[in-house]
Amino acid sequence: MTTLKGKTALVTGASRGIGRATAIALARAGAHILVHYGRSVQEAESLVTEIRANGGRADALSADLATPQGAAMLAEQVRSIVGDRLDVAVLNAGISKAVRIADYTIEDFDNLFATNVRGPFFLVQQLLPMLGEGSNITVISSAVARTVVGKPGVDNPSVLAYASTKGAIETLVKNWAAILGPRGIRVNAVAPGVIDTDMSNFTKTEAGREVTLGMQALKRIGKPEDVADVVAFMASDGARWITGASIPVDGGSKL
Ligand code: NAD
Repeated sequence: MTTLKGKTALVTGASRGIGRATAIALARAGAHILVHYGRSVQEAESLVTEIRANGGRADALSADLATPQGAAMLAEQVRSIVGDRLDVAVLNAGISKAVRIADYTIEDFDNLFATNVRGPFFLVQQLLPMLGEGSNITVISSAVARTVVGKPGVDNPSVLAYASTKGAIETLVKNWAAILGPRGIRVNAVAPGVIDTDMSNFTKTEAGREVTLGMQALKRIGKPEDVADVVAFMASDGARWITGASIPVDGGSKL
């Protein structure tokens, strides 16, 4: 049985989807959850209430991680709650975009990289004084960091820019793991396939469902909880000898 009793855990983008399920899984394991959100104050507060109602500890904190100051603002709030010790950080907040190659704008590109790469990069920098021996970081990457999904072609929408943000984050994970390992800090990625959240609305259409099931060995659509359980394991002592890894959580996609 994995336990995070007495541990503190930050989950970014925890108001919905994979982040919400992860916050609940970590709370069940006994951690005090710092529920980070961007704009969805009501959803975040209702998650805090739910965790507390089940006997857990939780606080909500807000910061826009796409802004240059977002990471430092969030780290400051984390420090005001946990003091000098953060045990678990789950870097989950992210955005995606699927359009034809000709339709990408500079703004799309910059938003994707600001949210998915710059935010996590500086958040780790800012959290570092609170991380120590036994602390760990799990970054939510994606199967698209390593695999091309959808139907390739210039007339078809693709997640090319999003995919490259996830490639960048996996490179960071390896570097962070190497740099922070001597301090006893583990850093890993979890790479989901298609998961039924607001980000993957296409799974709600028959065509989207068919494409998704067509590339998976396991024939159902992945759920946020499928990812959350793996993140909870990666955050626990059960994963003490894993660092610098990227764990696929994708029902056997594109085997
Ligand atoms: P989602 O859209 O439901 O959740 C994303 C979360 O990130 C939201 O809570 C949102 O508020 C937060 N967020 C986005 N931009 C932010 C910002 N600037 N500041 C603060 N918070 C911000 O989608 P999800 O599927 O739960 O995505 C969670 C993570 O999982 C993302 O990193 C995503 O890339 C990754 N992922 C999702 C899938 C999928 O199929 N759903 C697959 C692979 C990876």
